[in-house]
Amino acid sequence: MGFEHQRIAIIGGGLGGMSFINAALYVGLKNVQLYEQAPQFGEVGAGVNITANANRVLDAYGLKESMTRRASPKLPCYMEYHNYRTGEYLGHIDEFSHPPARLLHRAHLLDSLKERIPESALNLSRRLSRVDRSGSAYVLHFEDGSTAEADIVIGCDGIKSAVRQDMGLTDSPIYSGQVVYRGFVEYKDLPFETAELLRKTVNFRGPKKHVLILPIGNKETQTDRAAIIGFMSEPLEAWDSESWLSRSDIDNLEAHVKDWCPQVQHIIAGLRKGSSDGKMLKQALYSREPIDKWYEMKADRQIQGTCIAIESGIALATILRHWKSNDLEAAFRFYQDLRKPRTDRVNRTSDEAGKLASSDVPDSMTSNFNPTALMERMRWIMEYDVLADLREKGAGLLDFRQEKL
Ligand SMILES: Cc1cc2nc3c(=O)[nH]c(=O)nc-3n(C[C@H](O)[C@H](O)[C@H](O)COP(=O)(O)OP(=O)(O)OC[C@H]3O[C@@H](n4cnc5c(N)ncnc54)[C@H](O)[C@@H]3O)c2cc1C
Repeated sequence: MGFEHQRIAIIGGGLGGMSFINAALYVGLKNVQLYEQAPQFGEVGAGVNITANANRVLDAYGLKESMTRRASPKLPCYMEYHNYRTGEYLGHIDEFSHPPARLLHRAHLLDSLKERIPESALNLSRRLSRVDRSGSAYVLHFEDGSTAEADIVIGCDGIKSAVRQDMGLTDSPIYSGQVVYRGFVEYKDLPFETAELLRKTVNFRGPKKHVLILPIGNKETQTDRAAIIGFMSEPLEAWDSESWLSRSDIDNLEAHVKDWCPQVQHIIAGLRKGSSDGKMLKQALYSREPIDKWYEMKADRQIQGTCIAIESGIALATILRHWKSNDLEAAFRFYQDLRKPRTDRVNRTSDEAGKLASSDVPDSMTSNFNPTALMERMRWIMEYDVLADLREKGAGLLDFRQEKL
C-alpha cells in the first residue's frame, strides 16, 4: 500500500527540500517533483555543522563518501570555548557521538544532496504563488504563469513559507533579538597561531554575543576555510534592509568586538582581506512558535535546523511509502505525532542554547563555566535515531517488508 505512485510536489530546494527529495528517492516514492524559485540551486551563508542524528540518515542514502570528501577531517573536539576578551582557553566538549560531526560549506552540502537526484525532478525558476484544489488534486500556480498538479504538497519553502500561508497560518516570524554576521577567512590570511586555533570549532563567548568559528572543508580539496558566524545582539530598529538577509560593512561587526581578544581582531582583518567590497553577510535571526497542525487535508539557535529537516524528511518519506492503509490523513497524523514532540523541544530549548553560547556575565564564567554540562544538554539531540524511532512507533502501521531501514 502506501502512496508510492501519488504525485508529490516539494516546494523549495534549500537544504530541507533537497533532503526530503533524497529521502523520497531512497524509500522509493516514484512520482516526486521539486520546485525552487531561484534560477539556480545555491546556498548563501557560511558553513554548516551536520551532527550524528542527521549523518546517520545521510549515510543510509549513500552520501557518506560524498560528504566526507567535502567536509572537514575528524576534528580534535566538538567545540572549544575561549574568553572573548583575553582569548584564554576555558574548556571544551569532546566529540561524543557517532558518526562524528561534519563541517562543510553550505553550497557543498547542497552539491552532495543534488548528486543522486535526476534533473527531470528538479524545476528551477518556479516560484509558487498559490495552491488551488481541483477535484482530488492540488493545482500549484507559479509566478511565471505555469501550473502543475500534485496529490501531496510538501512545504520546504523557508521561514516565509507560501505553503504555510496557504494552510491559513498567518502568524509572523518572531525576531530573536540577535543578528548574525557571516563570512569566511582563508587560513593564509591569519597569523600562524590563530590559524592553528581556528582549525578547531571555537566559540569566543562574550556578553550576549559570541563569535563561532566552523573549520569547514579540507586541505586535499583546497576547500579548507574558517567559516565565521558572529551572533550579535541588535535592536530590530537598527535593521535597515527590506530583507531579513543583507550585506553589511565588516565595520559593523568590528564595532561589536573592538575590545575583544587579538584572535578576534585577526578574524576581522582576515574577513577584510577576503572581501573585495569590505562587506559580509548579515542576517536577522527569526524563529516561529510551534504550531498545532502540521498538515492540511484540503488537499531554529540550536543550529540544528538542517539536521532536524533531514530527520523529518526520512520520517515523512518512509511513512508515505510504507503506510499500510490508504488513509492519507492518518499517515500525516502519525507523522505529526512522531515528530512534533521532538521538534517542539528543539524549538523550545533553542533560545536557552543561544543564551548559553554567549553569556550575560562572561568575565566571571571561568569559575562556573561547565562544558560537560553543555555536552549533556545536547546529548538527547544528537544520539536520537529517527530510523529506530520509526521502527518502534511505526510497528503495525508501516509495512516494513521491503524496507531498507
Ligand atoms: C547562522 C545560522 C547558522 C546555522 N547553522 C546550522 C548548522 O550548523 N546546522 C544545522 O543543522 N542548521 C543550522 N542552521 C539552520 C539551517 O540553516 C536552516 O534550518 C536550514 O537552512 C533551513 O533550510 P530550509 O530548506 O528549510 O529553508 P531555506 O534554506 O530558507 O530554503 C527555502 C528554499 O525555498 C525556496 N522558496 C522560498 N519560497 C518559495 C516559493 N514561493 N516557491 C518556490 N521556492 C521557494 C527558497 O528560494 C529556498 O531555496 C543555521 C541557521 C543560521 C541562521
